[in-house]
Amino acid sequence: MIRINEHYRKLTASYLFVQIAELVKEHQKARPDADIIELGIGDVTLPLPPACVEAMRNATDEMGRQEQFRGYGPEQGYPFLRKTIAQHDYRNTKAPISPDEIFISDGTKCDIANFLDILGIRNTVAVPDPVYPVYVDTNVMVGRTGESHDGRYQGLHYLDGTPENGFVPEPPEEPVDIVYLCFPNNPTGATATRAQLAHWVDYARSTKALILFDAAYERFITDPAIPHSIYEIDGAETCAVEFRSFSKTAGFTGMRCAFTVVPEACKGITEEGEEHSLRALWSRRQGTKFNGVAYPVQRAAEAAYSPEGSRQVAERIDSYLANAATIRRTMENLGYRCTGGDNSPYVWVEAGDDSWQLFRQLLNEASVVTTPGTGFGLRGEGFIRISAFNHHERVEKALERIHSALA
Ligand code: PLP
Repeated sequence: MIRINEHYRKLTASYLFVQIAELVKEHQKARPDADIIELGIGDVTLPLPPACVEAMRNATDEMGRQEQFRGYGPEQGYPFLRKTIAQHDYRNTKAPISPDEIFISDGTKCDIANFLDILGIRNTVAVPDPVYPVYVDTNVMVGRTGESHDGRYQGLHYLDGTPENGFVPEPPEEPVDIVYLCFPNNPTGATATRAQLAHWVDYARSTKALILFDAAYERFITDPAIPHSIYEIDGAETCAVEFRSFSKTAGFTGMRCAFTVVPEACKGITEEGEEHSLRALWSRRQGTKFNGVAYPVQRAAEAAYSPEGSRQVAERIDSYLANAATIRRTMENLGYRCTGGDNSPYVWVEAGDDSWQLFRQLLNEASVVTTPGTGFGLRGEGFIRISAFNHHERVEKALERIHSALA
């Protein structure tokens, strides 16, 4: 018989979304006329920017003409998109990022998971808690952890995010090899200041750790003091890989396009202690296991940077940010302490001792769905996440009802 990857058996089943779905179903059954409003999910609701749609349409037409037809593209992504990204997103970073250090992919989720292919199994890993669950589960799957006990996997270093540290954990006392950071953060909406990121980069450089920096929500930053990229910090190009996505910026969750920056200066070591380029390894990995993103999708992603594309992306971000601001204001006026919602689409609300209690109250009394913080780790207990990804009128209606239920 074929043997399975035993590490998958260690994964603690995430009942959270099943449980939420069941409670929502029960509520709908008990109140068939209830107009349930979703403020729980992290998926965009506004349609694609017209500039992206037009670019995709034109690219598809090209593919139908003999003289412009293209087959397999470069695994790393078309130079036109990599150059555009380097110019627009990395123009102001401390170290210049070249198009050769940018790898186009079909999603940050896959890149985060796949990156583990090129990192030795004996590396130790630190993850924040609460956390985007993909960082943890992918390490479990490759066998870098033991079993889970009381909500935590043996062998992982957990970095507690708390109201006291503003959900920006300090580097651990002990050295670790790989550190996951995500700012603006999902689920807490927290952002890291330049000084906080510099502290992390100093830690990584002095301990020779690698930072895996997830900047999927970078476009939501409006405060000019907050860095958009880890490469705005001196020396980060020697110790950090950055992940970015078109999902939440240009609404590409259903289109699939993202990119990962692996600077040439970022090195790992072999068992013999020799330095090895992570960029070269990642290039080899992608060349063997990936065949690139669809040409029309890459043209659509490029169009998100054109003057009209950028304006349309900004309109979408502004709309979600306006929702986030109203959510935060409403919850604060009701006496709840909140994080996020200003440079992020997520508002992280202190719910008391039990996340589920506030979740249930909002569902039963306001017909509004949120996410209990426990879905994001042990330190998520006592919080709920409210997402700004919904239409403005729906968010307004949800907040009116929340206000009536909780005031
Ligand atoms: N990183 C974070 C923190 C996310 O919240 C998400 C999606 O919700 C992703 C990455 C996934 O991005 P993509 O759609 O590019 O796979």
